[in-house]
Amino acid sequence: MKIDLHTHSYYSDGVLSPKEIVEKAVNAKCEFLSLTDHDSIAGLSEASKYSKCLNLGFINGVEVSAKFNSQSIHIVGLGINPEERTLKEGLKKNNKYRIDRAKKISEGLFEAGIERAYEKASAISKTKYITRTHFAQMLIQEKICSNMSSVFKRYMTGKKPGSVKVEWASSEEVINWIHKAGGIAILAHPLRYKMTLTKLKKLVNSLKTLGLDGIEIVNSFSRFEDIKIAKLIADENELLYSSGSDYHGWPNQTIQLGGVPEYDFGRKSVINYLR
Ligand code: AMP
Ligand code: MN
Ligand code: MN
Ligand code: MN
Repeated sequence: MKIDLHTHSYYSDGVLSPKEIVEKAVNAKCEFLSLTDHDSIAGLSEASKYSKCLNLGFINGVEVSAKFNSQSIHIVGLGINPEERTLKEGLKKNNKYRIDRAKKISEGLFEAGIERAYEKASAISKTKYITRTHFAQMLIQEKICSNMSSVFKRYMTGKKPGSVKVEWASSEEVINWIHKAGGIAILAHPLRYKMTLTKLKKLVNSLKTLGLDGIEIVNSFSRFEDIKIAKLIADENELLYSSGSDYHGWPNQTIQLGGVPEYDFGRKSVINYLR
């Protein structure tokens, strides 16, 4: 079964509208799609309505920024009720941090000789909740960097001028918001946190005690080896399997919506809990 349970629209750092995301999923012959914008549920009603028209299985989703100790992680909520108050209030809090951080990033970039970064990044974002990706796109447009990975290396991570720590909500809070909204909590892209295997196992184990329901086994970057490791960690913690491309629709990207390899996850698939 073809599914894509991790995608972004222009309501966070993607390029396409929710409608266009739905069209892509239909063209890619997905049976189920979830739209999972960063800390945002703004695109869900459009995507959900349009999916109904096109007979596509749509799952309300969100990718929530969270902290575990001092590490930033992403927890995807699937099957959430977007009207639920606790979740909505929680996302509001994260988005306030997001705006504060964007201003600090801009100050950092100013020190590095880049003027009006906040204004310029805002100009290419549909919403006021700008992400680091918008700064990255802006620096590419201004020809200061040539691609995403060089922006993050030169400006947005470690001790670089636009690197700003954020106190996102704790993982415990985020998992609770998702559960309160009737959803299941999935650890996004477990192998992208640059952790040793021992540390990653500890993280997942701790998240499980906080109520984590599943982890992403396959995304666009997964190699065969990564899938094996993710499955092993999921099984050790009795977690469900999810899968999604993390499609953003940026130019020069090889990632395709619905482009993750198909696997039969059987009874461990999150889909069994969602439909
Ligand atoms: P934010 O939620 O504002 O912290 O932005 C996080 C987003 O930035 C991620 O979802 C990715 O889309 C993008 N991102 C983070 N690190 C990198 C990287 N090293 N290269 C390219 N994109 C990245
Ligand atoms: Mn993103
Ligand atoms: Mn993510
Ligand atoms: Mn994502």
